[in-house]
Amino acid sequence: MLLQLENVGKSYGAIRALDDLSLTVERDEIVALLGPNGAGKTTALEIALGLRRPDTGTVRLLGGSPDAPSVRRRLGATPQETGFPDELRVDELVAFAAAHANDAPDVARTIERFGLSSLAGRRAGALSGGESRRLAVALAFAGDPDLVVLDEPTTGMDVESRRMLWSEVRTAASGRSVLFTTHYLEEAEALATRVVVLAHGALLFDGTPHALRHRFGARRLSYVGKPLDPASAGIDGELIEIGGRVVVTTADTDAYVRALVGSATHFEALEIAPASLEEAFLSMTGAVR
Ligand code: ATP
Repeated sequence: MLLQLENVGKSYGAIRALDDLSLTVERDEIVALLGPNGAGKTTALEIALGLRRPDTGTVRLLGGSPDAPSVRRRLGATPQETGFPDELRVDELVAFAAAHANDAPDVARTIERFGLSSLAGRRAGALSGGESRRLAVALAFAGDPDLVVLDEPTTGMDVESRRMLWSEVRTAASGRSVLFTTHYLEEAEALATRVVVLAHGALLFDGTPHALRHRFGARRLSYVGKPLDPASAGIDGELIEIGGRVVVTTADTDAYVRALVGSATHFEALEIAPASLEEAFLSMTGAVR
């Protein structure tokens, strides 16, 4: 086990940021930490990295304490906000980050792998926002670490750059473990082997992206007619009546339609629409926009 948070609690004054959180990252896992604003994601990462101390509970990182220098050398991280010295060049920054590693890392490989070759001689102060973010993520991998921790790696990037970075992270992640936070369900699905959802500092979901899609990826079926209780048809789902329509939210609309037809319930004006993942996720985590 590369990282283990056990029953971790953390408060800032009256704010309970983490509430008895237990979380592990195993070798070769890519774990996405999802949750609405203020769920405690950054606090969890900072505690994992030894940048903050938990009030209660324990943290084990790479078999030791997050404070041990031998442990820290095997770790790479990108914080939510990064600032680089304007005058340093991209290749100098990568070499600087790489110098913290145990083994002599391949600076040119990191530069190439993260699509920074054409920017290698550019001063950090002359990078665009998206380019800086790409560099910040590349630096986390530069020292060939065992565990990489990324706090919102693609925030501020356009869709195309984001997809490119996903593919670079996927390649660079091979043979190591990654823990990252994100607000994008799509990012969690694209990158993660396991997804952990936090809400109000507590664990709400821990499973594969497939299970996450099943849980949050419900579809909405509606019709005019007599309500057919999904439970009576052996289907997981919720039924409400709005504006003269029966509305059923379920992951298995096909089974519901079969049950509806089979039950000889009168129905008309049937519509099936995907409930947006984002919408379902927000309602699940109790977030208010
Ligand atoms: P976001 O998605 O907005 O980055 P998050 O899930 O990373 O949020 P945290 O930054 O860990 O959440 O914050 C958890 C809670 O703790 C929030 O209510 C936040 O306001 C509070 N908090 C975080 N850092 C501090 C601090 N230094 N002092 C006081 N309160 C804090």
